[in-house]
Amino acid sequence: MRIILLGPPGAGKGTQAKVLAEATHLSHISTGDLLRHNVAGNTQLGNKAKDFMNKGMLVPDELVTQMLIERLKQPDTQKGFILDGYPRNLAQAETLDGILNNLRAAVDFVVYLDASESVIIQRLGGRLVCKACGANFHVTNMPPKRDMICDNCSSELYQRDDDKEETIRKRLLVYQNEVTGLVSYYRQRNKLYRVSSDEGPQVVLDKIMQLIKALDDSAKV
Ligand code: AMP
Repeated sequence: MRIILLGPPGAGKGTQAKVLAEATHLSHISTGDLLRHNVAGNTQLGNKAKDFMNKGMLVPDELVTQMLIERLKQPDTQKGFILDGYPRNLAQAETLDGILNNLRAAVDFVVYLDASESVIIQRLGGRLVCKACGANFHVTNMPPKRDMICDNCSSELYQRDDDKEETIRKRLLVYQNEVTGLVSYYRQRNKLYRVSSDEGPQVVLDKIMQLIKALDDSAKV
């Protein structure tokens, strides 16, 4: 199964992709995480991507796409994956179909996580991320047990540079400019399913799991 999670920054794509990957035993591929890993490692790609990310802009397609192609060569992705953060625009959606076509595969369905702007700003403004394992926390919604320390691996938590309010607004604008094309692309192909993600993570996960089950059942012969 190859699933895309689409939605604005702060809709919970990363959180849902992680738990969904565990529940379904599919690989979680996050282009944002891969890029941050490159930035932290000071790689050539990371150095090229950094400024775009800090300004809340999209990293040029060719850089992100090449990175995704490399990731898709890894054997764990063959059983299927949950893709979070890609595609971000129509060109990337078309490129992804091309890449998967070459691998004799296809996107099965796209979950559009829909959240209201006030929820998004509240979620992103308070988000804390672990420097080592990437786990997400939130200052009020899901505070860590110890101040600024990861519950899972005891490393330090930090606020992403692009989670500052001004950059959040820029990221939302970038998203709104690109999303219409993506929505019609997947709607025309009958692959798009909308799930409201204003509620807490468990409620949203249950809704997505119900959807996956319903789609899986309907595919049975
Ligand atoms: P995310 O973690 O998905 O919110 O991504 C963080 C930042 O990484 C975005 O604001 C972009 O600068 C960059 N990024 C992630 N995925 C993509 C993509 N598919 N295309 C272009 N830029 C991306």
